Amino acid sequence: MASLDRNNKILLDLVQQPGNNLCADCGAPEPDWASYTLGIFVCLNCSGMHRNLPSVSKVKSIRLDLWEDSLVEFMRERGNSAAKAIFEKYVPAFFYRPQQTDCVVLKDQWIRAKYERREFTGENNYVQQVYNADPFESTLWKKGKDNKQFLKRIFVLSQKDFTLKYFIKEDSKVPKAVISMNDLNAVFQPEKIGHSQGLQITYLHDERTRNLFVYHENGQVIVSLFNAIRATRLLYLQKKNPTLRDDDLIPQITRHCLKEGYMEKTGPTQREPFKKRWFTLCSRNRKLLYYKTPLDATELGAVFIGTESHSYSVSESSSKSVRGGRWHCGITLQTPDRQFVFMCEQEQEQRDWLEAFRKVIAQPMTPQDYANEANLRRGK
Ligand SMILES: [Zn+2]
Repeated sequence: MASLDRNNKILLDLVQQPGNNLCADCGAPEPDWASYTLGIFVCLNCSGMHRNLPSVSKVKSIRLDLWEDSLVEFMRERGNSAAKAIFEKYVPAFFYRPQQTDCVVLKDQWIRAKYERREFTGENNYVQQVYNADPFESTLWKKGKDNKQFLKRIFVLSQKDFTLKYFIKEDSKVPKAVISMNDLNAVFQPEKIGHSQGLQITYLHDERTRNLFVYHENGQVIVSLFNAIRATRLLYLQKKNPTLRDDDLIPQITRHCLKEGYMEKTGPTQREPFKKRWFTLCSRNRKLLYYKTPLDATELGAVFIGTESHSYSVSESSSKSVRGGRWHCGITLQTPDRQFVFMCEQEQEQRDWLEAFRKVIAQPMTPQDYANEANLRRGK
């Protein structure tokens, strides 16, 4: 019994070392599980995904399970850094490396890609064949524009002309939409879409946002599409900005929303009844968009968020008498054109929104921001 305790102590020592102190797959701090066939330390969450791959990975708790000397020795020899040098040797620049907070399908497929399919060890052509396939085709379930029904649609991604097209039928000649890589953004939205493999694809159409909500039953298919889109976006950005380095372009591939959620909103005179709307705030394009429901194809309105020196500001609103509304945690957003009053359901939401608005207001304007501002204000 004594020797087993000693082995747990050795593992607890090993897991403190740089490299081992973060989960090998999602970067979560203080992992307390380990795959003894791969020689890596992982968090509880990722250990659950390793359990689904018994032919390549077997996991144990470093605190609670019994460890044989030979397994501990292997953990000491291998460890997270050495495993990374093998299994992540050739991860392409465009490939999305999931973090702790990312959705399950992204983490699960990252683990499968690394250890089950060995996509990045250099022993096969997987990356070239799958993510750089031109064209990349997949059949997805897509939500109807004006209803809740999901129907099968054929999506074709092309690196040649930097577009994503979709077709109603296999033999359709004319695409239903041709989306340029310039405006395309894809993010996983499992909760919003109500499917663990749900992806939101956003682009601009006549200066308005167009959202497509899609999913595929197979996690590998949807994550492959997501990374193929990232590969195509990176190629596009490289071509558009030949002087910029990949390190500057990679953060631009995918645009994450700073904050999303319901707030109540009144009209321009502030005497209109408050209505519940779904809001999204993005720091990259400095746009606050609002929708009737989270799965709307197009926004009802858009507000550009500039900087303080351009007369944009945000503050807590003291107004308590709210016509038609049910919520009482107010926010006042001042723009050069108009004052907006929003109501949040809870104080925490109000604080989160205030923080998100302040973050965008504090961010310096880029030349592209000035162009977006002019476009949005002209559109009003
Ligand atoms: Zn993890």
